[in-house]
Amino acid sequence: GFPSSSKLLLVFSLSGGGLVAYSESQSTSATNNTELERLANKKKVVVLGTGWASASFLKDLDISSYDVRVVSPRNYFAFTPLLPSVTCGTVEARSIVEPIRNIVKKKNGEIQFWEAECTKIDAAKKKVFCRSSIEANLVGKKEFSLDYDYLVIATGAEVNTFNTPGVVEYCHFLKEVEDAQKIRASVIDCFEKAILPELTEEERRINLHFVIVGGGPTGVEFAAELHDFVYEDLVKLYPMVRDLVSITVIQSGDHILNTYDSRISSFAETKFARDGIDVCTGCRVLSVTDKNVNMKIKSTGEYVPVPHGMVVWSTGVTTRPVVKDFMEQIGQESMLLTCMAISALLSGMQGKRRVLATDEWLRVKGYEDVYAIGDCATIDQRKVMEDIAAIFKAADKNNSGTLNVEEFQDMIDDILIRYPQVDLHLQSEHLSSVTDLLKDPEGNARKEIDIEGFKLALSHVDSQLKSLPATAQVAAQQGAYLSRCFNRRELCKTQPEGPRRFQGQGRHEFMPFRYKHFGQFAPLGGEQAAAELPGDWVSVGRSTQWLWYSVYASKQVSWRTRVLVVFDWTRRFIFGRDSSGI
Ligand code: FAD
Repeated sequence: GFPSSSKLLLVFSLSGGGLVAYSESQSTSATNNTELERLANKKKVVVLGTGWASASFLKDLDISSYDVRVVSPRNYFAFTPLLPSVTCGTVEARSIVEPIRNIVKKKNGEIQFWEAECTKIDAAKKKVFCRSSIEANLVGKKEFSLDYDYLVIATGAEVNTFNTPGVVEYCHFLKEVEDAQKIRASVIDCFEKAILPELTEEERRINLHFVIVGGGPTGVEFAAELHDFVYEDLVKLYPMVRDLVSITVIQSGDHILNTYDSRISSFAETKFARDGIDVCTGCRVLSVTDKNVNMKIKSTGEYVPVPHGMVVWSTGVTTRPVVKDFMEQIGQESMLLTCMAISALLSGMQGKRRVLATDEWLRVKGYEDVYAIGDCATIDQRKVMEDIAAIFKAADKNNSGTLNVEEFQDMIDDILIRYPQVDLHLQSEHLSSVTDLLKDPEGNARKEIDIEGFKLALSHVDSQLKSLPATAQVAAQQGAYLSRCFNRRELCKTQPEGPRRFQGQGRHEFMPFRYKHFGQFAPLGGEQAAAELPGDWVSVGRSTQWLWYSVYASKQVSWRTRVLVVFDWTRRFIFGRDSSGI
């Protein structure tokens, strides 16, 4: 609609007579022209994906000055943290998805959505090429291209099989809603197969051996859900095979949940041992067949075939082909591979995930108008360290090697504002080593601070600065941050140097992205969960599970899904899970 023109019409009609008609048409056409001009001047924003990052970007975006087009093979948003609950029917698939058209409905205009996959990004021509993913009865063209002024890449990541033979053919993944639905049907199938007549006990046992490869949060949560499903619901329906069921988690590291606080991983291991879930740590899966998971025990070098009824592969994520292709185009792939090779050589460790590198404003490096958010991107830490070095250099104007306390404080402020990772790092482990610098050995405040000493205190940041984790929390915060930047773009045109403190320094107009970590959960089954909370707090047990329920209910993207999810939990408490397998 054209709100300004309707206001004008009202004013003129109050003045009455023939003049009204004349003024109406003239003013309306003038207003319409301005409006059309404004529409024509709207910048085209193309958004790829309808996951956490893009949904949060689109939710708060003010589209009055943007013509927004969204492309994704999925026309809904999925609340992924509840996917493991879908595998066992604790919540229904429909309860955790929200049609993207509901999310992008806007009061002040329209966001266009096309259900298609982006197959190529051409940053030089500012174009993306797409292909519709709807196969059946599609009349007409399947392929189309879109021009953009700004591109937001939020395509997430795909499952990493590490090219292990047999994984694609014989394993289930747990990444999409369809995966969770397939797992649910397969679990029931395993039970139905196991009770068929004329099977030996060993054959029944194999059919009921559930193997989970990967002891990260998703694998562990699925193992816990499956355990509850089997022992709370299925054994009542299949009592004859009750003692033949087994669940095994295979983990290549020394502990499950090894990205969590060690208290949480040992709590999880103890709980799993009590529940009878086997945890094989230090084992690498070499191949999977329809009958066995073939693994190697790292410590002994022994090869062990593990017969299975069903395997769920949950070992992390990797870059999608469209992003890989884009990285090759802009030269990021080769740059990143070289850096990974060097750092792997130096540290003897596995390199980082290959994802699009952005600056702290989430722009793909070298491309001012291409943004990458969520699992497909990471903020390039090498640039961060270069910038910190430049801040040191600039602060020490006369090369004295020392700074007075005020200058030092300014420098710290500057670093902390621009680099939240350093902030987090200093807050957690190394704050004392930095604050110690402010005092002399007798405990008196120093007037001059030794730059080298401070550099030393920060030096471990270089090696320990971690990429932000691939989580919904990061993706949603990046989406929200980017929409704020887009909403303030007009304002920034009039104030190109942004906040006063940055004026005259030629810096970017927006504050850099700052991640705030609110902690993470690990539901462990039996109405128990573990949580890592900000400030190094760890909480485990039943009360944590209730905290989990309340946080996940509150984080739902709409009231509809919130009500459905709470209803599903209640249904499960009263009637148990549905075991029909459809
Ligand atoms: P996604 O949410 O994966 O969205 C990517 C979007 O891009 C999708 O809509 C996809 O269809 C679309 N897309 C893909 N290819 C193309 C293409 N070629 N063109 C256009 N669009 C494309 N994180 C947490 O913080 N807490 C949790 O408890 C948690 N639990 C999880 C449990 C499971 C089972 C899984 C799988 C993940 C979990 N995560 C959790 C991680 C979290 O889901 C991801 O980090 C998050 O989804 C990343 O958001 P994203 O927007 O980058 O990607």
